[in-house]
Amino acid sequence: MSVPHQAIPKQSDIDNILKSNKIMSCDCDAAQSPLWIIKKSSTGGRGLFGRKKIEKGSLIFTNKPLAIGPRNCDLDTAFCAYCYKTCEDCNYCEKCGLVVCSVNCETSRMHQTDCKFITMHWKLKSNVKEMSKILGRIRIYIQLYLLPAQQKESLLLFQHDNTSMFHELEYLCSCFVIPDEQIEFMKTVYSILKINSFRIPASDREKSIPLRGLFPLAAFLNHNCVPNTRNVFKEDNSMEVYASRDIEFGEEIFTCYTNFLWCTPVRRYQLYKSKNFWCKCVRCKDPYEMGTNLSAIKCFNKQCTGSILPENPINPSSEWFCDSCTSKIPFENINSVQHIIGSLVSVLSEDDDINPNGIVLQRLESFLPSCSHIFVDLHLRWTLKLGYFEGMSLYELSEYRLALKEQLCRDTLRMAAALGAGDAHLRGLLLYHLHAALAERARRCPDQYDVSISYT
Ligand SMILES: [Zn+2]
Ligand SMILES: [Zn+2]
Ligand SMILES: [Zn+2]
Ligand SMILES: [Zn+2]
Repeated sequence: MSVPHQAIPKQSDIDNILKSNKIMSCDCDAAQSPLWIIKKSSTGGRGLFGRKKIEKGSLIFTNKPLAIGPRNCDLDTAFCAYCYKTCEDCNYCEKCGLVVCSVNCETSRMHQTDCKFITMHWKLKSNVKEMSKILGRIRIYIQLYLLPAQQKESLLLFQHDNTSMFHELEYLCSCFVIPDEQIEFMKTVYSILKINSFRIPASDREKSIPLRGLFPLAAFLNHNCVPNTRNVFKEDNSMEVYASRDIEFGEEIFTCYTNFLWCTPVRRYQLYKSKNFWCKCVRCKDPYEMGTNLSAIKCFNKQCTGSILPENPINPSSEWFCDSCTSKIPFENINSVQHIIGSLVSVLSEDDDINPNGIVLQRLESFLPSCSHIFVDLHLRWTLKLGYFEGMSLYELSEYRLALKEQLCRDTLRMAAALGAGDAHLRGLLLYHLHAALAERARRCPDQYDVSISYT
């Protein structure tokens, strides 16, 4: 992840971090001749580039995390600090206070190391009952602090901003006396993790808390709102990065740190909040977002059937314009409408039954055209829910709902294709659901089944 004002590290430093972290851990030829190279990026920092042409579907690299830990700082959920399973009545280690769910987790090498570190360096201020809640959330900092010296130093090669106090650290300091040098280290790492870590999707195996990991090579991937890769996380939390379309020699390799289906103002704001930068990619600069008009609001002029769009989407105070009657609307007016839309969306419950005639939806329709990202998002949720929800199996869907599922799959596939999603997870997921709907249709009336599928 690049931040323009940060100095570009020397190639020898990069080589060190990659070598010391055994980056090229995949057992393929890539270890000898990687498909990528690290170079200066036009985004300002450094990035990964194709060292040769990379065919769609190719594995670009495999990357093991330097450290993993919980994603958010919700202090109410208790979990085992080692296997991350949620557990309400878990024991905690009497020596260090870390929560451990089983003898296995308690006697693990990782716990022995942490236990020794905490009891040696941190002095408990009082018998704080709640401290075990925070330790599992702070353990990722201990993992990184205990890295071998060279690797620990190379952490500073990752992009980071001004270091400041954060909630978990404040909490930790209220429980223990922590050496200043370690507090400073944790502040820096907090910023490194915020900017560079990747969400690790929850595994289906056990009930575990949401995780994130610091992946030393993937951290060099810059963001683009139309990425050319997709990530797959393995059982051992290692990450595989595949090309979602052909990547040319010398072309930059991108990932996407935000929701691909959100409209530009929402994506950019979320990227700023979570990763501290304002995206200026080609999609962000295009008011029409590759013809999808995801940001569109219905024209305020009741006689007009046009949509209003931001004139310059990367300037939040830009005027909006109507694509039909060409009226101009100051951003303040847009903000008030978006406020109303936001409150309507907040009362749309995810658990609501699928009801295209609901009152809230009708109100939303008075503001938004069907291409709006709000509807796209809602339609995607419906698509995945129809036929895959309690009391609503495919087998039991009404004809109307089966047809709705099929239609929504095709619409969203078309939109993702227009945005240039390539062979992304979203496309795979939608194709799976479209296939399920068509198979159910075929089961119901085999004679009428039309085998010609067109979704592009
Ligand atoms: Zn455990
Ligand atoms: Zn312990
Ligand atoms: Zn962008
Ligand atoms: Zn108009």
